[in-house]
Amino acid sequence: MKKRAIITGVTGQDGSYLADLLATKDYEVYGMVRRSSTENFERINHLMGRIELVRGDLLDQMSLIRLIQTVKPHEVYNLAAQSFVPTSFEQPTLTGEFTAQGVARILEAIRLVDKKIRFYQASSSEMFGLVAETPQSETTPLRPRNPYGVAKTYGHWMTVIYREGYHMFACSGILFNHESPRRGKEFVSRRISVGVAKIKLGLEKKLTLGNLKAKRDWGFAGDYVEAMWKMLQQPKPDDYVVATGEAHTVEDFARVAFNHVGLNWKKYVETDQKLVRPTELHILCGNALKARRVLGWKPKMRFEELVYLMVDEDIKVLANG
Ligand code: NDP
Ligand code: GDP
Repeated sequence: MKKRAIITGVTGQDGSYLADLLATKDYEVYGMVRRSSTENFERINHLMGRIELVRGDLLDQMSLIRLIQTVKPHEVYNLAAQSFVPTSFEQPTLTGEFTAQGVARILEAIRLVDKKIRFYQASSSEMFGLVAETPQSETTPLRPRNPYGVAKTYGHWMTVIYREGYHMFACSGILFNHESPRRGKEFVSRRISVGVAKIKLGLEKKLTLGNLKAKRDWGFAGDYVEAMWKMLQQPKPDDYVVATGEAHTVEDFARVAFNHVGLNWKKYVETDQKLVRPTELHILCGNALKARRVLGWKPKMRFEELVYLMVDEDIKVLANG
């Protein structure tokens, strides 16, 4: 019998890569989508016919219960969230509804319908906030520093509580930043890759960024969804940090991206205080030794390769109009 999986957030970056992965593993994949007046299926158009789209919304408890009753999944991957930090400052309570309470709603739906369903929660390195140590691991204290990080911390602890309290197979993947050509255009990696592509093609002259000194541990989304799947195939549920263990500054990212197309970043990058956050996370760098030891997972794509991939893809798309 084929395994059935529900992916919430299937229209997002990770949802689309995870759907690709599960489809190749011969799962029946059910991607949960919320209602919108125009379809936003760009990231999953290539999967049409291989996955089924089903309606549901993290804000609507009944829609989640009905979905789980109808699909009877073996695995649920909760990737849906309001995932952008600056928006979480502008809309803190809505971010809490999606990114925090949404997790409780799914966990409750699973508890009600079938406690044996395996659950993956998309937790985030943003929970480490004002970091207590570097690199950060599963035992590093959580000190979130923005409304998104606070909401993710709630989702993380609820996942732990349902695992320990109700003996559910609930895992929390604490993923560090991961990028790809499918990354949302508001995130810094994609702002840089699109900006470099436009400048190279003569469509723009400058790229405006915020804090250039912030350090992040950037990996490739295609590698990271494999870790999500591996977590749910283990004999026991647990939490895992997923990261490369290498941190680079935003400036490094820009330099490598501009160098790749033969340009000097210093001539094109400007900074704007409006893009600097009320509270910043200066360094996030993960220790993924547990994922390596228990899951046998390690990242395949190196930082430079990731930057080149993103820049090349944006140049290709923009050049083709
Ligand atoms: P995206 O922002 O690309 O995708 C978010 C998804 O959530 C979209 O499919 C969106 O649907 C969906 N969604 C938002 N609100 C709701 C709702 N109320 N009901 C149903 N669906 C909703 O995120 P990523 O793919 O980059 O990230 C996946 C998950 O991993 C997120 O939870 C994110 O916070 C977390 N994460 C990501 C990291 C990263 O570096 N990418 C790092 C650590 C954690 P729609 O298309 O309709 O808007
Ligand atoms: P985050 O780590 O989930 O918040 O991912 P982002 O890609 O949004 O931001 C990563 C880091 O880049 C943060 O420290 C930002 O302050 C910094 N940054 C610098 N300039 C920009 C910018 O123009 N846009 C975004 N999104 N982030 C920027």
